[in-house]
Amino acid sequence: NKQVILKDYVTGFPKESDMNIVDSTITLKIPEGSNDLVLVKNLYLSCDPYMRGLMNKPQGTASPLAYSPQSAIAGCGVLKVLESGHKGYKEGDLVWGFTKWEEYSLIPAAQILFKIEHTDVPLSYYTGILGMPGMTAYAGFFEVGSPKKGENVFVSAASGAVGQLVGQFAKLHGCYVVGSAGTKEKVDLLKNKFGYDEAFNYKEEPDLNAALKRYFPEGIDIYYENVGGKTLDAVLLNMKLNGRIPVCGMISQYNLTQHEGVTNLAHLVYKRIRMQGFVVGDFYHLYAKFLEYVLPYIREGKVVYVEDIAEGLEKGPAALVGLFSGQNVGKQVLVVARE
Ligand code: NDP
Repeated sequence: NKQVILKDYVTGFPKESDMNIVDSTITLKIPEGSNDLVLVKNLYLSCDPYMRGLMNKPQGTASPLAYSPQSAIAGCGVLKVLESGHKGYKEGDLVWGFTKWEEYSLIPAAQILFKIEHTDVPLSYYTGILGMPGMTAYAGFFEVGSPKKGENVFVSAASGAVGQLVGQFAKLHGCYVVGSAGTKEKVDLLKNKFGYDEAFNYKEEPDLNAALKRYFPEGIDIYYENVGGKTLDAVLLNMKLNGRIPVCGMISQYNLTQHEGVTNLAHLVYKRIRMQGFVVGDFYHLYAKFLEYVLPYIREGKVVYVEDIAEGLEKGPAALVGLFSGQNVGKQVLVVARE
């Protein structure tokens, strides 16, 4: 059973060499009488920015998901049930939920989030558009952002797993949408594939405040926050009265030992901005409603999804650390097996 192991806790930017590929000889078996464990084959694994936080040495109470040195790392994935001690699952079921980065896993049934009912779309989509990042885009934009037709929306990390969907949902909702990303290739995708009205490369803008003024002369109603730091600071100056900032993530800060200061926070008060953090896990009760919303758009080609596919567990470490230097174009998926 091939596994991706974390060598030791990580400080600063993660590196490929922080992880190892090992071959475990332990045979996975559901113990006699267990009514909880499920034996799965891991098909598609999701590379997500939050996984960086799980590599830290825990301070105080550790997240139940935190990684331990010399153990396999874990995350969301698409899994095939090989054997089930739990009565809710049977051999052959396709599901998505939390698993380990290895070929086969023995997991508690509670780690399975949903059974996969629709297989007329690529299975890998359940790591992205139809999985955790898709729900994050949907809940963050509609539930936290409370968008209205005609509003001005700005999205950072706009071509990524979450961002590419926020932009498309905002367009479908009748908003004006601008995105920022870190390469020309990504900026082209934003404009030509995801339908953003405008897009810019934040690495080529010496003055982010001026760039935002150019694209939003009347200001921003909703800022879908994925990156934090300097971008957030410049955005605050350009928010409109009663603006909303769904705070999805702040990837620019995850690897810094000293976080960058946000100097413009007082604008939350002047402009009565609602800046609200959220965690996708609070919104999974809306999953059925989300599928009803997004599946027809996928089938009609009205919502598209770009994936960056790495093949084989050996490619896992590079794919994961690549998120923090923007190597991924679209949702970073790791294929362990296709069936
Ligand atoms: P992406 O697919 O967008 O991949 C990460 C991207 O972030 C990179 O490709 C890179 O794009 C950009 N990036 C990396 N470092 C920096 C930096 N220093 N400054 C600016 N941009 C940077 O990831 P996801 O779509 O999966 O995640 C996007 C955000 O959503 C993250 O902050 C993540 O933590 C958050 N999230 C939050 C959830 C929640 O429940 N609240 C759930 C899921 C995700 P580029 O080339 O454009 O720089």
